[in-house]
Amino acid sequence: MLAEAYHLLKEQKVRMTPQRKAILEILYDFKGHHLEIEDIHRLLTARRGNANRAGIATIYRAIELFQKVGLVSRLPMENSPARYEFISPRASGHHHLICLGCGKVEEIDDWLVDGLRKRILQDKGFSMAGRPIKIYGYCSTCSKKVLQDRKISV
Ligand SMILES: [Zn+2]
Ligand SMILES: [Zn+2]
Repeated sequence: MLAEAYHLLKEQKVRMTPQRKAILEILYDFKGHHLEIEDIHRLLTARRGNANRAGIATIYRAIELFQKVGLVSRLPMENSPARYEFISPRASGHHHLICLGCGKVEEIDDWLVDGLRKRILQDKGFSMAGRPIKIYGYCSTCSKKVLQDRKISV
């Protein structure tokens, strides 16, 4: 919840300017989406007009701050700018399927990956730092296209 997020920010002594508030609100309202800095900038401008308009650099700094506090998670992409999303301080993690064709991001629940994680940890004696898993590939639409292109070239 947003109130919880504010509480956490206060605890961490993060100074909340109207701009930072507006940025956090956008991230919260678009929970479950994976936004580029550009998207956040566009949404912010659309919502606020010129009031509290924040430049790209301001958004970057705010996002970095929220990331440090653990309210935002960063999703590095292969062929496009990183995406960001709001995460609840107490929520369990989720993982991502990332399409290299169209950049679509889908979420997979943590429990689906739990078994795999346990096996990897057991087999390799490796301890995971709680980072979400990212699986890169092609979404159903794009893999159809990839197959078609292959047929044509064969
Ligand atoms: Zn795709
Ligand atoms: Zn996500």
